[in-house]
Parts: sequence; structure tokens; C-alpha cells
Amino acid sequence: MTIDVKEVSEKDKRSVLHPFTHLKDFATGKLGEPTIVETGKGIRIQDAHGNELIDGFAGMYCVNVGYGRTEVAEAISRQAYRLAYYHCYAAHTTDELANLSDRLVKMAPGKMSKVFYGMSGSDANETQAKLVWYYNNLRGKPNKKKIISRERGYHGCSVVSGSMTGMRFYHDYMDLPLPQIVRTGAPHHYWGATPGETEGEFSARRAVELDQLIERIGPNNVGAFIAEPVLGTGGITPPPEGYWKAIQAVLDKHDVLLIADEVITGFGRTGSMFGSQHYGIEPDLITVAKGLTSGYFPLSAAIVGEKVYKVFEDGADKVGAFSHGYTYSGHPIGAATANAVLDIVEKDNLAGNAREVGAYFQAQLKKTFAQLPIVGEVRGVGLMGAIEFVSDRDSKTRFDPSLKVGARISKAARDRGLIVRPMPHGEILGFAPPLVTTKAEIDDIISITEKAVGSVMDELVRSGEM
Ligand code: PMP
Repeated sequence: MTIDVKEVSEKDKRSVLHPFTHLKDFATGKLGEPTIVETGKGIRIQDAHGNELIDGFAGMYCVNVGYGRTEVAEAISRQAYRLAYYHCYAAHTTDELANLSDRLVKMAPGKMSKVFYGMSGSDANETQAKLVWYYNNLRGKPNKKKIISRERGYHGCSVVSGSMTGMRFYHDYMDLPLPQIVRTGAPHHYWGATPGETEGEFSARRAVELDQLIERIGPNNVGAFIAEPVLGTGGITPPPEGYWKAIQAVLDKHDVLLIADEVITGFGRTGSMFGSQHYGIEPDLITVAKGLTSGYFPLSAAIVGEKVYKVFEDGADKVGAFSHGYTYSGHPIGAATANAVLDIVEKDNLAGNAREVGAYFQAQLKKTFAQLPIVGEVRGVGLMGAIEFVSDRDSKTRFDPSLKVGARISKAARDRGLIVRPMPHGEILGFAPPLVTTKAEIDDIISITEKAVGSVMDELVRSGEM
């Protein structure tokens, strides 16, 4: 199929409202023409001009099995021919949905009981908030409703999930956050620690701060804590040593539920099947999306722990039907897609690949970039990583944001055939390649990034900005 590039561009500019895009710069052409993405194979995508790009971000941290997997395409097609749609209200189901749910309950960490389906990470976290409120209403604790999230956490951009997201630019001009959501500090030792404070001491301090926050609000008013096992969009930041153990103890002490947002970390990215397993977290509720279908179909899930579900079932005579659900909850094509994707994840041991190739990736990232004068920190776990740029590494001085160092490096990499993402919180370059990435492909990613960083460093030197 040939695409008429000009026609597609014109139609797009006329009629698509693009997320996370400067609307005036786009409308006036300052951002250039839209990139028309046409095909994908393995870890590469191709645009309508035939340019090939290595996708160092797996789309949006989601195409874990890589592009162009015929097994998945065939599963989608098979299910579309067989039964394109049916709902799962009022005890209806499909074989694909039942199989997927049984599989998720068995593979998920902690004692899980049931799976509720949505279409995106945002709506799944919206569901989690309602489940927390429902749970505490049924337990006769109607005030236990506040949900604590962390600075720089990302949980979506719908009304409740957007409020959980701890970055201001997702709130400004959108009348968020809602008052039910309360914030605590980010688990980032590099920026958050006091001079000389070890990772363990910093983690303990974050736990004390959480404890004090819960005491201040009143434990009877706090329903849940939501967090990503590894901070994702807020800067790809693995937790400091001892963090999760200390946090979990505070939550247990105050009878506060733990929602593990595994939208990025679920299904292998950290090198373990779930981030919760990687860090010894025992969640009460788990959110998954992205890797569940590798982005081949929109599907998310709120996985509900036994302790929470039991209260729902016990309360059913009082409240009647569980009144929450979407037309597309448990979509049969979504379920068939997820089953085909999870077959690949298990058969090809993609968590193992993320562990092994991930260790190589982390070592190469550190070796190549950690000593550069504009690099403050290199961090990551499995196949997710980040380089944080600063203008002075000794004094940890940030670059002037107007220099857009992260965005410029990302653009320089893209001009050389690699997609890596400037993260929205600071001058950070983020990496999250598909979980099928090989060591040789990691070498390509590192080598292009090295050239991109070098070229922007040269520019900064030439212009006297460093
Ligand atoms: N939670 C996390 C941890 C995420 O990274 C994201 C998406 N980047 C979401 C929730 C929201 O998912 P979606 O964009 O599918 O609504």
C-alpha cells in the first residue's frame, strides 16, 4: 500500500488533536510535518518516507514482544472472525477471557483473586480508586478514602488517575488534582537525599514521612497508597535500597491498601515477571496494561487481591450487583491478543531476556555515559534506563530548562535513526526498548546515543553554555 504523504499530513494537521503536543507550534509548522509511521518489524519502525528507526522506547514502553509478530496478528484475526465482540456483564464470558483471567491470577504476585478489565492504564487506575472506596464503604469505614501517591509518579491522565499523577503540568489548566489524592515524596536518592545520607537512610526517611503524613490525615481517612515499583514517566528511577520494605511496613501498620501500578513493569521489563516480585512488594491491587497486549490491542486490568475481593463478595447481599463496568470490559479480541502475547512472553522467556540483555544494557550505559561532565546519574533496571544530564556534576546544578538539553539529545539521536525519549521531569533521556532486544541491538542503541550526546555537548561548548 502506498501512502500519499502530503494528503495524510494535510488531513492530520486539519483534524487530529494530538496528545502532549504544543498545539500552536504544530499548527504553524514549527514542529515540522507529522511523522507518518507505516510499518514495524522487530525493534524497528519505518516511516512513510522509508526511513527506518530503532524504537528504543517500545512505542510507549509497551511493544515488549516487538513489532510484526504474526502469531499475535493471527490470534487477533481469528478472534475477530469467530466473535468480534461480546460483553462480560451479568456472568457472560468467552473462553479467551476465562483463560486469560485464570492465567493472570496465577502469575501475578501476592494473593490475587479476580481480574477486572479496562482499555487503558488510566481507566484501570480510575477503577482502582473506586475499588478502594467500595471496599472501605463495605467495611463500614466510609471516611477511609484518601489515596496517597508520590511526587513524579505517573498513573494516567483521566480525572482520578490524572490526580494520582504527581507532576504539575498534568494538572495545570485542567482543574486537577482532586482533593481525595494526597502526595508524598519521590523515591529518588540522587535529588532527594541530604548530603551524606545513604540510600538506606533516605528510604527510612521517606517511610517516616509517609507515616507522619498518614498520622496527620488520620489513618481512618487513608484508604490506599499507589505507586509504580520503578518510577517510570517521572524519570525511570529504580527505588533506593530498602525503600519498599520500609514503605510496606508503614502501610501495613495503618491498614492502608497498596496499589502496585505495574503498567510499565508488568510482564518482564525489570527482569522479573512483575516489578513487585523484583522488589519483594506484596500488593493488594495490581494495575496492568501496556505489556499485557504489547500494545497490539488496548487492554488493561485491575487485578484484585483476595483480601479486597472477599469484602466485595461478603457485601453483595447488602449492595446488590457490582455496579462498575465498561462496554469493552473483557473484550474478546483484547483477551485473545493478551493470551497470544503472554504465550510469547513465557515461551521466549522475555523476562529472562530483560534480565540478561538488561544487565548488559545497564553496564554499557554506565560505562559509556556515567563519567561524562554533563551526566549527573545513569540509572535503571532490566530493560529500562535513564541518563540524567546536569550542567555541573559536582554541585548537581541543573541545566537551564530553556536549553532543552534532553530534547536536543533525543532529536540528535532520532536524526541518527534511534528513538529515545526526553522525559518530562528534568533533562532526562529515557530508554525502554522491546524485551526482544539483543545485545547487538543494545550496541547500536548505545553507539547512536553516544554520537547524539557528543554532538549536543559540542554545541553547548561552542555556544559557551557549558
Ligand atoms: N500507569 C503507568 C505506570 C503508566 O506508565 C501509564 C502510561 N504511561 C499509565 C498508568 C496510563 O496508561 P494509559 O496511557 O494507557 O492510560
